[in-house]
Amino acid sequence: MRYHYCPLCGNRLTVKPAGDDGDVPYCTSCDRYWFEIFNSCVIVLVYNDDDEVILEKQAYQTSPYRSFVAGYIQPGETAEACAVREVKEEVGIDLQDLEYVGTFWFAPREQLMHGYIAYAPKQELVLSKELAEGIWVPGTEAGKYLYPDPPAEAAHGIYRHFLKKRGLDPDEAYKDKDKRN
Ligand SMILES: [Zn+2]
Repeated sequence: MRYHYCPLCGNRLTVKPAGDDGDVPYCTSCDRYWFEIFNSCVIVLVYNDDDEVILEKQAYQTSPYRSFVAGYIQPGETAEACAVREVKEEVGIDLQDLEYVGTFWFAPREQLMHGYIAYAPKQELVLSKELAEGIWVPGTEAGKYLYPDPPAEAAHGIYRHFLKKRGLDPDEAYKDKDKRN
């Protein structure tokens, strides 16, 4: 998001050259640049010893798709701490072996998604009130429930990483893509 007014004093911003970044919105009253901002989020694929993964559906959600656990990083929080916190809050699980996969840009909402896969022993999920559903599903069946790719590059990115790591067949995982419910 590009600033047009100063978030501190409310003045309309001008632009000022900022080295290699070129012209950047600038408040002459506060003597401060306002670089474009975006949200940072995590997305976490949780798997167990049987290669099942957790898929969830938000309570407000009307589409038939499912997703992995995801949430916004809070100020002062690391992406790793956020991944652990979100999984605990949403499905009641303590993670082990958190592995960083990489980042993905989610253009529709201007979000930088930090992707992880994480192991946890199989256990009952204790769902947050935010969720309409949270379930373990066989890892090779998860692909058909995910939002189409694009816009869900982050979900598919960590999913492909998981399949490769666990020696599972991506063709098997995506073959029934049209049988979502
Ligand atoms: Zn200002």
